[in-house]
Amino acid sequence: MGYGFGIKNWLFFAISLAAAAPPYQPLGRVAYLTSSFGESRGTRYHAGIDFSTNMEEGWPVIAPSDGVVEFAARGAFGYGRYIKFKAKDEHIWVFAHLAEFHQKIDDLIRKEMLKKEKANVQLSLKIRFKKGDTLAYSGSTGIGNPHLHIERRTPNAKTALNPCQKMECPDTIAPYILDVAPFDSGFAVKIVDYSREPLENPMSIYSLDIYQGKKLLFGKKYDSLSFAPQEMAKIKDDIARVEDDGSVGDWHFIKVKTKANSKVLVIAKDFANNVSKTELTLKSDSLMLKAKDSVEVLLDTVPPSLGDVYLKTDFAGKLQCRIPVVDSLSGLDFNSIVFRDQNDKWVIFDYDSDPKELVIEARDFDFSESLIVKLCDKAMNCIGRELSCAN
Ligand SMILES: [Zn+2]
Repeated sequence: MGYGFGIKNWLFFAISLAAAAPPYQPLGRVAYLTSSFGESRGTRYHAGIDFSTNMEEGWPVIAPSDGVVEFAARGAFGYGRYIKFKAKDEHIWVFAHLAEFHQKIDDLIRKEMLKKEKANVQLSLKIRFKKGDTLAYSGSTGIGNPHLHIERRTPNAKTALNPCQKMECPDTIAPYILDVAPFDSGFAVKIVDYSREPLENPMSIYSLDIYQGKKLLFGKKYDSLSFAPQEMAKIKDDIARVEDDGSVGDWHFIKVKTKANSKVLVIAKDFANNVSKTELTLKSDSLMLKAKDSVEVLLDTVPPSLGDVYLKTDFAGKLQCRIPVVDSLSGLDFNSIVFRDQNDKWVIFDYDSDPKELVIEARDFDFSESLIVKLCDKAMNCIGRELSCAN
């Protein structure tokens, strides 16, 4: 083999360049990561990635391949509104915090809502889509800021995979290696990554290698997370040991005993291959990694209240009646709500978690009618009120 790169090779190279499909963009445009795969969320690791939608809602969510939407759900918390999409390769994609589903999905969901007289429903379905089709629209349901949460799971749904393996995850900033601290059966390294300036959203890294001299002490790629209970138990054990100053960055636990005052070389990479290398000295008396305090449970004795009703047009041009809701403890932390019109017909509503609001769309409700509202918080403190959206 010489060093020549023959004409045949050049031709092959040119053809493969021309034939290479553009990378999948879940939002149909360049979007930046605000959370990475595997970063710590206090009680669990993030099983997906988050893309910023520039504080906007209604960005189209694009199908990664031909496939089937096989599940849709509406919830007030957690994933909010989300879908599961079975791709051509049998892997399952989850798209969460959606504002709207595709019309075909929405029609079935609304039927189910009317049948169950509940705003939070979930449904198995089978709606085919082609690669590049719009499956839904991004939003902020179940969570504060608008963004798109994406997961990719193995066909048996037992393992979450890093979605960046299948798409471009733009990141221009190398990780920051922040600290090292001993703990009972080894040591831990604290690292943070950001995707862009300003450094607003602390994220985790893609790979970590730690050397002592020439010896590799630890090497890991954060490609996958197991949903298996025994794996989750290990995760909880690690996450319980946190520094209590609340500063940014994730601890990575290295269960290898090393001598105090010895030096380790830490090499951290993000998914876009930005690399940082730092040599750190393991002190014997540095940070104490201690167990978190248990969460205090508060009692709620005050019923929730409804704010002033107002009308607003959503991104798709639909008119909405918006009703701010406040509870004494935690905003929209209510247990049940019922809206009925004057004919005692149940009225469909949505949750909007930021601001904490209930939303009623014109599609399901004639704004000239008044509504009877009954709202209870989790401690079952209830209020009832008649209100009008036409003002
Ligand atoms: Zn997320």
